[in-house]
Amino acid sequence: MDTIHTPSQNHDEKSEIIGRLKSLQKISFELDQVIEWSDFYRLIVESARTYLGADRICFMLLTNNQQYIQPTVGVDKHGQVVSYFNDYPFLVETYADWIKSGLKNRQRISIRHNAPLYEGQGEVVGIGWNAIALCIQADEILGLIVLDNLLTQKSIIDSELEIFSLYASLIGEHIIRRKNFELLQEQNNLLRQKQADLQAEQQKQRKFLSRLQNLHHVAVELEMTSSVTELCKQVITLGRSELGFDRLGLFFVDEETQHISGTYGTDIEGNVQDISKIQMSYFDTLSWVREGLEKRDLVGVRDNVSLCSVVENPEIGWNAMALCVQGKQFIGWIAADNYVRKEPLADGDIELLSRYANLVASFVIQKRESERLENNRNLLGIALKSAAMLAWSYDWSTNLFEYDSTSTDLFSFQNLNEFLEMVFLEDQSSVATVFQSSFPFDETESKLRKVEFRYYAPNNEICWASIVSQLESDTESNTPKRMHGILYDITEHKLAQQRELELALERQRLLTYNEFLANISHDLKTPLTVISTSSYLIGRTTSDEAIHKRIETINGQINKMLEHIQDILTITRLDSNAPVKEEAYSLETIIKQSETRLQTIAKEKGVLLTTDLDVNLKPMVGDPHLFERLVTNLIANAINYNRQSGSVTVIAKDLHDRFKFEVTDTGIGIDETNLENIFKRYYRAPNGTKHSSGTGLGLAIVKTITERYGGTIEVSSIVNQGSCFTVILPYHYKTTP
Ligand code: ADP
Repeated sequence: MDTIHTPSQNHDEKSEIIGRLKSLQKISFELDQVIEWSDFYRLIVESARTYLGADRICFMLLTNNQQYIQPTVGVDKHGQVVSYFNDYPFLVETYADWIKSGLKNRQRISIRHNAPLYEGQGEVVGIGWNAIALCIQADEILGLIVLDNLLTQKSIIDSELEIFSLYASLIGEHIIRRKNFELLQEQNNLLRQKQADLQAEQQKQRKFLSRLQNLHHVAVELEMTSSVTELCKQVITLGRSELGFDRLGLFFVDEETQHISGTYGTDIEGNVQDISKIQMSYFDTLSWVREGLEKRDLVGVRDNVSLCSVVENPEIGWNAMALCVQGKQFIGWIAADNYVRKEPLADGDIELLSRYANLVASFVIQKRESERLENNRNLLGIALKSAAMLAWSYDWSTNLFEYDSTSTDLFSFQNLNEFLEMVFLEDQSSVATVFQSSFPFDETESKLRKVEFRYYAPNNEICWASIVSQLESDTESNTPKRMHGILYDITEHKLAQQRELELALERQRLLTYNEFLANISHDLKTPLTVISTSSYLIGRTTSDEAIHKRIETINGQINKMLEHIQDILTITRLDSNAPVKEEAYSLETIIKQSETRLQTIAKEKGVLLTTDLDVNLKPMVGDPHLFERLVTNLIANAINYNRQSGSVTVIAKDLHDRFKFEVTDTGIGIDETNLENIFKRYYRAPNGTKHSSGTGLGLAIVKTITERYGGTIEVSSIVNQGSCFTVILPYHYKTTP
């Protein structure tokens, strides 16, 4: 290694060194101004020559872990400043030993005198001194300046070398500063880039959010559509105008995914058009769409494809489809492309399309359901209207009715009270029971409730109606919630029923009348024949006794006929509903009189007739003759259908506002099968005919009188033991129609 020269101390040299030291400041300032690295390296070289008196100088960087030396800018053998950037870096190892050792020992400055001076790739161009000064910063050798005196051949003194050493470390400082600055800038740039990215992302998010908000507005508009068709049209119109899609088309798939039908779409000019004529089999659908459908991919996109749906003038663009799915229900898809506006697929387009398709699915399902309900409602409305029925719904909590008042104008009410006011007074309680419910709700209450009632029609006429209803309970609270039902007029039906009843009665009356005539004819014919025969025989006999006998026979038959006629008159009078007398009379007197009259017959028949009359019997109000008929008929039967030495007991007993009249005998009795017939007109039990030649009208008269008086009659009997007839009558005459 060469030693460093002792500096000469003459004045000129000193002032020159001071001048160069000052120049270092100036150079430092200029280096600060340079932006590009290449200019920086060039300035290093040029400034050293201009201000520091350098001859040939070259600045080299130490790179790649200090293993390589990369020359930057230097001075060639002709004194020209040249750039060495295009030269390859040199391996430190291949350098001269003195340089290697300078680097290794981190010797800030090293010099060799009378050394060969090189140019480029090792060409020796002269002899002179040759020095290197290292740019060391924070223990790192960043580069080095190489100096020689090829051009000037001037010697160098130590102070000059020292200046170059200072210069090298100044360069090192600058390099670090520049690197730090660059690092800072890089970080700033990175930061700025990140901020820009963030802003762009936020912008995207905002844009997407605003489209999502639009989706909400679109949903509100779709909600307001009145039919599935209008909905489909709006899906396309609003999808373009509010959500910013280009061309859209909505296709439906049937439940079995067999058939595809178009609804609305967009033509190549961007107009919304009816595409319902697009009807195809599922297998004719585009294969990529089919694939998506099969895989149930919610959305499928293809970019840079031929938009082949536009056959006339296909373009390249993007094409997407989003399935309209709601839960498990799949109704079709929305197709989208950019044929008209040619805008590339934007961020969020697909997400938005997918959400839109989902929304559309829910609306289509909802609209289809409400259309179905509407149809059913209309059908029901027509049915109800034609049947003049009112379908109603009653809310338990508000006490209000809801119904379509156009179905019938017969009924008009808002709440339960108004409804009940419409109902005929006597039927109100039974109608009110329809709207009663127990708390908590009882399951059995949900069965159909039906009641027929009379009501006041708008013209105040009393008509008939029927109400059928069903109660619906709140399953959570187990309390009644609503009641649904129908209300309809049944006046016509009731009138028809009544007419039918009257007709049946009329028929019955006619039948009875015919029977009656037949019976009378038959019953009167027998005595008349006897009378006729007797009168004939009177004319043929001369014996007074025989004539007398015949006359007695004739009288007997006439009496029978009179009795019979009396029975017929009585029953006819009762049937005609003619008013009966209303006078007070003593029951005791009537019963006693009858008993007296019938004692003769009883004795003739060997029957013991006794009476037991309550002393508390009150006076009766009514027709005494009718009551006498009742008493006589019952006692006469008890005597007539008795046995030899039998008995008849007549009891009359006070029962506060009524009294009991009972006739018990020990006679032939009545067979159980005949018991229900004995009150029928002209009925005569088979076992009785030989005992009495009655008309079969006696008990019918008794029953009719009892009923006219508002009483009851009962009979109990045992064959061959006797019978007991019990009549209970109110004291006060009360007619029943
Ligand atoms: P009749 O004129 O035949 O007595 P009723 O109407 O009085 O007509 O009685 C109808 C039938 O009821 C009688 O024919 C008889 O068969 C039966 N009957 C009525 N009362 C008695 C009775 N006390 N004991 C048994 N049978 C009776």
